[in-house]
Amino acid sequence: MKRAAVIIGAGIGGLSTAQALKRHGWSVTVLEQSAALPASGTMLGMWPAALEALGDIGVVEASRRTDGWAHIAADASTRLWTPAGRTLLTAPGGADLHLVSRPALLAALAEGVDITFNTQVFEPEQISDADLVVGADGTFSRTRQLILGDRFSARSLGAVAWRGTVQGAVAEHGETWASGALFGITPAGPDATNWYASLRSDRTFAGPHLPHLQRYFGSWHRSVQDVLAGIDEDAILHHGLFETPKLPSFVRGRTALVGDAAHAMAPFLGRGACEAIVDGATLGRCVAQAASVESGLTAYDRARRKRTQRLVLSSRLMGRFAMLEAGAAPRNAAMAAVGSVSRIISPKLRSQP
Ligand SMILES: Cc1cc2nc3c(=O)[nH]c(=O)nc-3n(C[C@H](O)[C@H](O)[C@H](O)COP(=O)(O)OP(=O)(O)OC[C@H]3O[C@@H](n4cnc5c(N)ncnc54)[C@H](O)[C@@H]3O)c2cc1C
Repeated sequence: MKRAAVIIGAGIGGLSTAQALKRHGWSVTVLEQSAALPASGTMLGMWPAALEALGDIGVVEASRRTDGWAHIAADASTRLWTPAGRTLLTAPGGADLHLVSRPALLAALAEGVDITFNTQVFEPEQISDADLVVGADGTFSRTRQLILGDRFSARSLGAVAWRGTVQGAVAEHGETWASGALFGITPAGPDATNWYASLRSDRTFAGPHLPHLQRYFGSWHRSVQDVLAGIDEDAILHHGLFETPKLPSFVRGRTALVGDAAHAMAPFLGRGACEAIVDGATLGRCVAQAASVESGLTAYDRARRKRTQRLVLSSRLMGRFAMLEAGAAPRNAAMAAVGSVSRIISPKLRSQP
């Protein structure tokens, strides 16, 4: 008889896990509190491990076929600016960049998955007839609270973010770092540009959001101003930023946590969604290879917990470094020095056989 799994949450983590388990012969039901998958969202950069995991769960071709997939060739470079527009560093494009819009990725991951919408799960432990329960219920996971308790609630990083996409490609991409704030511009395909902005703040902001963006970033250099001029108020997403504290385990008995439920992280390395996909592929493989669900989940915990917890830490430190409030001047001097050295040595490195 087919083994049965119930997954709580139809986000990137839940649907990746669903695809992985289905591929290994499981019967899977996903319970989702929303009425439907989101129809809008920004582009997500796919790191190589996430591309590989999408391949493992058989979704990479479906994702690539969508309009939401973009491929940026390696020759694009990324800059690091000061708010006045001084370039501290130009990082040459190393590897090709693969981007996919969140709705397109979710639609590809949902293909053939049985999702029950409008279903909020309050008591995950009452799902008694499943062989496996997966808490893929995001940053404020009810499943995490039930298996590990209140002391592992998500904690605020004391920062907020705005993000969105504007029409049209721009000539220069990169990040601008200031005391307590940053603004990022990344490609989102041949005719679109992703932007994100972050500010150290203990509270989120009420809309409309464009006036806040103008107030904090409107006096920054030309590339930021050009993006701000293209932003549509209705398409701005605004969040407080949170992370999951270091959990002692991602599993208990036949219940496992994946994605942000296990390791919500600051967005400054662009890794959260990628790691959620890798979690799903790994969990499916571990339970397929193990003699019991429990031993498969133990293998999943061993494969994923320490690795993702290091990324939670690195993402937080990256945000702190970028938005440093004291010491921004020596940091900028150090980054500019790195920039000068790389300008000198990179042509030499490129000319090496
Ligand atoms: C500003 C910002 C920028 C980011 N940029 C990037 C990026 O460029 N690249 C990247 O890789 N990652 C990025 N991330 C991170 C990424 O968005 C998340 O890591 C990823 O979406 C996590 O997926 P998930 O499925 O674990 O959680 P979620 O996407 O939160 O999905 C959880 C799902 O569970 C449902 N749910 C919750 N509770 C219940 C319940 N009780 N019952 C039923 N359903 C429930 C929710 O409705 C939701 O659909 C960014 C995050 C932020 C905040």
